[in-house]
Amino acid sequence: MSVKMYYSAEAPLGALTGQVVAVIGYGSQGHAHARNLHESGLNVLVGLKEGSKSRAVAAADGFEVLNPTEAVKRANVVMIAAPDTAQKALYESEIAPNLSPGTLLLFAHGFNIHFGRIKPAVGIDVGMVAPKGPGHLVRSVYVSGGGVPALFAIAQDSTGTARARTMAYANGLGCTRAGIMETTFKDETESDLFGEQAVLCGGTSQLVKSAWETLVEAGYDPELAYFETMHELKLIVDLMYRGGLDYMRFSVSDTAEWGDYTSGPRIIDASVKARMKEVLTEIQDGTFAKRWIAEDEAGRPEYKRLRAANSVHPIEKVGKALRHQMAFLNPVEVDMDGAQGAAEKGRDRKSTRLNSSHSQQSRMPSSA
Ligand code: NAP
Ligand code: MG
Repeated sequence: MSVKMYYSAEAPLGALTGQVVAVIGYGSQGHAHARNLHESGLNVLVGLKEGSKSRAVAAADGFEVLNPTEAVKRANVVMIAAPDTAQKALYESEIAPNLSPGTLLLFAHGFNIHFGRIKPAVGIDVGMVAPKGPGHLVRSVYVSGGGVPALFAIAQDSTGTARARTMAYANGLGCTRAGIMETTFKDETESDLFGEQAVLCGGTSQLVKSAWETLVEAGYDPELAYFETMHELKLIVDLMYRGGLDYMRFSVSDTAEWGDYTSGPRIIDASVKARMKEVLTEIQDGTFAKRWIAEDEAGRPEYKRLRAANSVHPIEKVGKALRHQMAFLNPVEVDMDGAQGAAEKGRDRKSTRLNSSHSQQSRMPSSA
C-alpha cells in the first residue's frame, strides 16, 4: 500500500484529555460526532442556534446545548457540522469572534477552506476529519463496534498539537477502527465532490433510473424492474464491500459474470469517462463550487425544482410499496420537504417517518 493508514493505537485519545469539544450542528454528521465522541470518553458540548429544531434532540441525547457563540467560547476544539453553504456566515458571525488562540477548528469536508470562503486567523489550528460515509452510518457502525474510514488533513498548526488532536478526534469518532488516511484539504474536497457526483449519488441514481425505465418501457412489470435494478443493487454492493469486484463475480452466476465483462463496458463506455473528466475539471477549476454557491444564495430555485421532479419519479412510488412489505429492511420514508414544504436540507430538516424505533435510525439519512 502506498499511502500510510493510521489505526487507533497510532492516534491516542490522550491528545484531547482535559479538552472541551464543541460540535456545531446536530444533523447527519453532527449527531454522530457528538454521540460517538461522548461515548469514547471525551467532553462534548453541542452548539445550535436559538430556535433550531435539533436543540430538543441533542438535549434528549444528554448534551449540554448552547448557542454557537457560547459553545465556541467554552471549547478547545470546534467541529463545524453545519451545511457547507451555511458555514461561511456562521463562521463570520458566531465562530471567528469567539475563537481563542490555539483552538483547533475542525471540518468534516474541506469545501470552505479549499475554496477560500473561510480564512481562519493565524494562531488558530485548522484540521479536518472527513468520514467516508453518511452520518447515520458513522453512528450505527460505531455502535456496532466498528468504524467508518476517514480522511484527515491539517491546514494550520500553530500549537504543534493540531495533528495529534485531529487524529485523536478521528479515534473518538471510531474512524481509526477502520483506518484513517492523511491528505490535503484540496484532495479531499475535489475527490469527495467527484465521488458523490460520478458514482455514489449522481452516477448510481441515474444508472438505476435509466435501467428501471428501460425495462418498464419495454413492458416489464414496474415491481420486477424495481427488484432487478434497485433492491438487488444493495446485495451486489454488499459483496463488493466485503471482497471487492472479484468476490461479487465469485458469488454471481457465470452467466452474470460474462454479461458484466461484455455489456458493462458498452453501458459505461469511453464517452462516460470523458464526461467524468469534464465533471472533475469543473470541480477542480471551481466552476461547480461557484455555481452551487450562487444557487444557494439565490434561494435554491433549481435545487428545489430538481428535488421535486426526482421525488415523483415512479420508481419511488413502486419502491415505497414494496419496501413497506419488507419490515426486515427497517424501511424509512423521507419527506424531503419537511412539514412546512420548505426544501432546504439543513435549514429545514427533512422529516422521517419510521416503522421502527431503533434510536440510531431516528436521524435522517443524508448524502455522502
Ligand atoms: P446537515 O445534516 O444538513 O445538518 C446541519 C446541522 O446544522 C443541523 O443541526 C442544522 O440545524 C444546522 N444548521 C443548518 N443551517 C445552519 C445555519 N445557517 N447556521 C447554523 N447551523 C445551521 O449537515 P451534514 O450533512 O451533516 O453536513 C455537515 C458537514 O459534514 C458538511 O461539511 C458536509 O460536507 C460534511 N459531511 C457530511 C456527510 C453526510 O453524511 N451528510 C458526510 C461527510 C461529510 P437544524 O438542526 O435546526 O436543522
Ligand atoms: Mg460529500
